[in-house]
Amino acid sequence: MSPPALPEADTPGDVTLRPAPDVADDLNVAPEHGLTSAEAATRLVSYGPNDLQGAPPVPWWRKFLRQFQDPLVYLLLVAVAISLAAWILEGAVGVPVDVVVILAILLLNAVIGYAQLRKADTAVAALASMTAARSTVLRDGRQSVVPSSELVPGDILLLAEGDAVGADARLLTATALQVQESSLTGESSAVTKQAGPLPSPMPLGDRTNMVFKGTGVATGVGRAVVTSTGMDTQMGAIAHMLATTEQEDSPLTHEIALVSRMLGVVVVSIAVVVMVALVLVNGVRTGAGFVDVLLLGVSLAVAAVPEGLPAILSVVLAIGVQQLARQRAVVKELHAVETLGSASVIGSDKTGTLTRNEMTIQKVVTASGTVDLTGTGYAPVGEALVEGRLLTEGPQLSEARALLVQGSLSSNAQLTETDGDWTVQGDPTEGAFLVAVRKLEGGTQRMDAYRRIAEVPFTSERRMMSTLQAHPERTRLMTKGAPDVLLAHCDSYRVGEEVRPLDQGVLDHVLAEVEALSSQAYRTLGVAYRDVPAREVSTDLDHAIEHHLVYVGMVAIIDPPREEARTAIAEAHRAGIRTIMITGDHPSTAARIGADLGIIEEGGRALTGVQLDELSDEGFRQAAREVSVYARVAPEHKLRIIDALQADDRIVAMTGDGVNDAPALKSADIGIAMGITGTEVTKDAAKMILADDNFATIVQAVRQGRVIFANIKKFLRYLLSSNMGEVFTVFLGVVLAGVIGLQSPVGGGLALPLLATQILWINLVTDSAPALAMGIDPQTDDVMGQPPRNPAERIIDHRMWLGIILVGAAMGLSTLATIDMFLPGGLLPGQHSFQEAQTAGFTTLVFAQLFNAINSRSETSSAFHRLFVNPWLWGAIGVVVVLQVLVVQVPLLQTAFSTAPLTLTQWATCVAMGSVVLWFDELRKIVLRALDVRRSAGAGASPAATPATPAPRG
Ligand code: ATP
Repeated sequence: MSPPALPEADTPGDVTLRPAPDVADDLNVAPEHGLTSAEAATRLVSYGPNDLQGAPPVPWWRKFLRQFQDPLVYLLLVAVAISLAAWILEGAVGVPVDVVVILAILLLNAVIGYAQLRKADTAVAALASMTAARSTVLRDGRQSVVPSSELVPGDILLLAEGDAVGADARLLTATALQVQESSLTGESSAVTKQAGPLPSPMPLGDRTNMVFKGTGVATGVGRAVVTSTGMDTQMGAIAHMLATTEQEDSPLTHEIALVSRMLGVVVVSIAVVVMVALVLVNGVRTGAGFVDVLLLGVSLAVAAVPEGLPAILSVVLAIGVQQLARQRAVVKELHAVETLGSASVIGSDKTGTLTRNEMTIQKVVTASGTVDLTGTGYAPVGEALVEGRLLTEGPQLSEARALLVQGSLSSNAQLTETDGDWTVQGDPTEGAFLVAVRKLEGGTQRMDAYRRIAEVPFTSERRMMSTLQAHPERTRLMTKGAPDVLLAHCDSYRVGEEVRPLDQGVLDHVLAEVEALSSQAYRTLGVAYRDVPAREVSTDLDHAIEHHLVYVGMVAIIDPPREEARTAIAEAHRAGIRTIMITGDHPSTAARIGADLGIIEEGGRALTGVQLDELSDEGFRQAAREVSVYARVAPEHKLRIIDALQADDRIVAMTGDGVNDAPALKSADIGIAMGITGTEVTKDAAKMILADDNFATIVQAVRQGRVIFANIKKFLRYLLSSNMGEVFTVFLGVVLAGVIGLQSPVGGGLALPLLATQILWINLVTDSAPALAMGIDPQTDDVMGQPPRNPAERIIDHRMWLGIILVGAAMGLSTLATIDMFLPGGLLPGQHSFQEAQTAGFTTLVFAQLFNAINSRSETSSAFHRLFVNPWLWGAIGVVVVLQVLVVQVPLLQTAFSTAPLTLTQWATCVAMGSVVLWFDELRKIVLRALDVRRSAGAGASPAATPATPAPRG
């Protein structure tokens, strides 16, 4: 079938003005059946994927060339030009080795940089596909979920609360459908939708019979036929705006750029001063002398800048994100990983995240007393017992049956069995009714006589829902909801088959029962009904119909806490992170579960949404410092809780599942959406998605965030101190040349302890491998034993800078001492050639960097602590040793890097001298640890976390 001619996207008048069935007809689709899969596939080929095209993808060669767009590369090109000039001045004999080597290293650097970029890109692309939006459609007559990018014109969309609308579509039906269109129109309140044709063409915000790509269903349900996809949608029309918004730099990237730039400026200044001083003091007059001085300047500048850093950083973050994904936490942006590590409060929903969300009705409480239902899980096997005796007749059976039958009828869940395995599709609370009714004598038979006419959907604000059911003898409204809320809509109650007025005494009695069950951790749900006269019957209901109800009773549902959540909460507490629970459930249920999980102390209480509303902002800020359990709250309360905590400088991670949670997820520092129960809209708003809905995964992710952050510090420490070592070597080498006997072999000229090519070799080649390996180091220090990082704090603090400078000095001095040892004259006697001495210095520095790699794994712990946990690091060290042997011993590379072969003893000397930095740093760490102990003894506390005890509010 060839694709039908589409109504034009920018003449919406067509589709909005005509009856929906005609629009479906034009699109060659039967609304009750949907497209066939084959037809959908054909249309996908002719219309293309339903994606918004951002900026065209950057071709690979452009990405490769970008690797050269770096001030440092320009500097090196200047060095190339200087060397080339010197070579020409000297008569252009042989090959200009320096020029060739620098160019080769630049090329190698670009290749490594490009390869790392590719790796990071692939990781990001993999994440994008994991978090891709999905839509529910009708195809081949069946409901199925497809990636939204595969929607085609003519698809029948099934819309429900929380769905992200995948394409522009004309509504076929709409029941209480409201859509949040602020992303498109800027209008913040949800727009009510309907399926009828519009009288005349309307502006975008008033096209009430259309839904648009990129908006979200706030409430209700609907069906719509897709009229346009991809760039033809209204969102497509504004996509060019989206494409031009640049992604902001993360604080980390920003700070690292700052550090590199600062280093560059400092060192270029030093280089200029040294060069000027040399020219003036040594009285450099010849062209060759100037070239030497210029090359020294270039070496210093090259030595100071950690060239490989930005690429290593993005790879480490990308790998971290992949590790998190394996642990079932999908982070949508690379730098969310940093924020994760600094979280100081985790706000979590209760149901499903802290509890297992495996609901079982254990008690049915009606006017005649309590029925106990045996059995666990979703298998409908169990008995109805009253005081241990099977319930087979009498008023109590009639009451319990009325309750469970009506509760089951006003539910949208489905209970299915495959090979003896029972599962619930839909809300587990509702599934619990379907299971319970099957345990009761005659339960299911009574349900068959009813047929559903309409529904008033559940919202977490109302905490109840109703369905209107037709029976041959009557039409009945059946309502279920939180008992305290439901009772306010009732004026009578049922005893046996009889209806009696609900007086204050009965009401108090029922509320006391609710309280008693709730404080035993039961989730309570009441059921009520009313027989509706014919004039009130309609398929388009709203909640105004829920009045004068007859209360039947309530069920007590058990939803056991997740065992692993208890451990995770304790771990978070140790890490200085407060856990708060935010739930729509009864305060006593919430407090009981909160205490069971260790969020509050035994007997602690919960603050309710109503109490919260009574507090001023300041009053609530006070309360928020102490209250850790919030009950009977609506999603908008989450926003207030986040605001109060953030006003206190807390970094808040907040979970959410429903559509109304989206604003809270956006305003939290880390919005976390539920992967299983979460809606598309919340997943869209979140920074992280929990694939398993489990609280323990959040704490796991925080731990991982901290490990990654610690690793970033490790390789920063490593790379910067390595650079510092090079700067010290070159700078002190020139300043102390007379003292250590460093003289140019050709006489008169300036003698450099290291050549620019050798420094580049270290920075770009031998440093990268250990730095990368450090980026995936397993935990060295106890990351969860420390309080959360203050995000305002610098990544490299004073102490770390001091360490970098001291370690750099140690490396520089041991390198120069080796050179002195080899050279005649100076402090230490020696009788080797200048080139041998320089090679020994170069090799010592490379080994010093390798020893420093094991140092850098912790600021204070000994390098020997958990020495062998990272095989990658040892692999990297092995590779570097081999490379260095090649550079020193292979004739071709000797010419390139101006090295001379070393004997075995000389190699041993270099290793020994290189190890000086290890011993030096061990000493430094001993001093630091002693200082830490003194300081914490002085402060009267341990350096580990001292989180505020979650004091419950009385
Ligand atoms: P969370 O802890 O994740 O916020 P919750 O399940 O505790 O979730 P809600 O789902 O908002 O919170 O439920 C609040 C109250 O509404 C429950 O205590 C229950 O009494 C009632 N309720 C829950 N689900 C239904 C339902 N499907 N039909 C009617 N009432 C319900």
